[in-house]
Amino acid sequence: MDLIYIDNNATTPTLPAVWEAMRPYLTDAYGNPASAHRAGRRARQALEDARERVAALLGAQPDEVIFTSGATEANNLAVFGLAGDPPGHVVASPIEHPSVAEPLRRLQEIGFRVAYLPADRTGGVRAEALAGLLRPETRLVTVMLANNETGAIQPIADCRLQIADWAMKSAICNLQSAIHCDAVQAVGRVPVHFGELGVTSLSLSAHKFHGPRGVGALLLRRGTKLRPLFFGGHQQHGRRPGTEPVALAVGLATALELAEREGAARRERVLALRRRLLDALRREAAPVVLNGPEEGGIPHTLNLSFPGCRADALLMVLDLAGVACSTGSACSSGSLLPSPVLKAMGVHDEVLHSAMRFSLSALLSEAEIDEAARRIAAAVRRLRATGD
Ligand code: PMP
Repeated sequence: MDLIYIDNNATTPTLPAVWEAMRPYLTDAYGNPASAHRAGRRARQALEDARERVAALLGAQPDEVIFTSGATEANNLAVFGLAGDPPGHVVASPIEHPSVAEPLRRLQEIGFRVAYLPADRTGGVRAEALAGLLRPETRLVTVMLANNETGAIQPIADCRLQIADWAMKSAICNLQSAIHCDAVQAVGRVPVHFGELGVTSLSLSAHKFHGPRGVGALLLRRGTKLRPLFFGGHQQHGRRPGTEPVALAVGLATALELAEREGAARRERVLALRRRLLDALRREAAPVVLNGPEEGGIPHTLNLSFPGCRADALLMVLDLAGVACSTGSACSSGSLLPSPVLKAMGVHDEVLHSAMRFSLSALLSEAEIDEAARRIAAAVRRLRATGD
């Protein structure tokens, strides 16, 4: 058993069936979907078919699907596109992915005010605090659906209710606030329905659910005003100009279809593997601190601290031992910074600096999980003994 890949929140392997569905659009059917000739029409047909499939699978309308290069672009498009011109006010969760958190910092630099919701120790934001943060000039509320570091699922429906309630009590009938939801770690893993979630926009990325890297989408509620990030073409109604990546869109739709078809079985399998890994590490690498929910989060994610070990040292030892995982920290110019997500949850230093993220997929076997647990526990014991 060589490399054990338990870093599926970073990316997942593309399934052969997805690659096969994409192949014709990388070889024979290479037309530009904007071209009027037969080759173009064939590409357009495949693109619009992919758009319709994605919409149907996620409870959206086809004209609500904007294909992007991934979720970083989709999140930037939502934050900048919905916030409009400064001055203005935005409310955000403190546990957003950098592709939301950094655009928010940029908004602050150009004259927006940003207020942050509190988070609790298991990684959930406290929706009831929203009422105290909203303002008549709030343009955008942004809260992710499932956190990439802890797996905690966020109370989007409660946030929506809080906003409606606040607008009613404050007699502000025309509150312009949009709600954006980064659903990257949830789509293709747990059921997500755009219409029922009731948000203005939602981002997703194909490579998190066994689709290709380099394509994602922003779902945008019909009739919403959005300022584009790019200019120079009329594609996708000018909201995201540029020649659409037909093969990647087909890959995204196919991966989503497979995820939907096999969803329940995959979830059950991953949940059992997560329990198996958690139990083994609690037994063999104690003391272990769980950062995030014991149950009820996205099943793929396990964020654990091993007090007495430094996460960066553990990551390196595990890489040498053939375990691909990640620290709970953000990498910046080669140095590891403590995770802002765990900090927002009130995690104290010792736990913060020893946090590791293991993220699973249904492709893993029980034997791989058992072997991963053995290698992790051995590395933890070694580092604790040497004081690293
Ligand atoms: N949001 C979340 C929650 C993520 O986990 C990621 C990927 N790490 C992104 C956004 C960015 O996605 P992409 O890699 O498609 O740009």
